[in-house]
Amino acid sequence: MVKISLQINATLEQVEELYTNHPHYAFLLKLKCLSCGECPDVWHDVIESKTYPSKTGKSDTHYSAKCKLCGRENSLSIIEGTNEKYTNDDQGRFKSIVTFDCRGIEPVEFTPTDGWIAKIEESGRLFEDINLAEKEWVEYDERIGQSVGIYDFQSQFIKIK
Ligand SMILES: [Zn+2]
Repeated sequence: MVKISLQINATLEQVEELYTNHPHYAFLLKLKCLSCGECPDVWHDVIESKTYPSKTGKSDTHYSAKCKLCGRENSLSIIEGTNEKYTNDDQGRFKSIVTFDCRGIEPVEFTPTDGWIAKIEESGRLFEDINLAEKEWVEYDERIGQSVGIYDFQSQFIKIK
């Protein structure tokens, strides 16, 4: 079992907090089979509120499938309670926003889609269901009379002990 965290980095304009609509957020991942190295060019959605019975472990998982190449049963789960918010204090560095428990596979690529929430500084207004597929987002908050935005969205995976 290997634990891998998804980290994000972004520039925030008037945004105090950026987070997903966990536990309903669909993390779109490309997954690599560690037993044969196969990495299908397919996005899998991993959602904490959607579980499958596990064939490899005791508890339910959030992704379970047989590798099409080597036939090994692989699975991946979101570790409960690992969801974190990215805040304006985190700007300029990567921060873990979720951690996966990986059995036989590991995520190699992530793409953000809809389901992000931004809390605006000063007004406290929430913009919901933001789509970050373009790696940026910009809006105008008339309550503070300024534009608000998310820019230079980046992500990476790190193995943790
Ligand atoms: Zn395989």
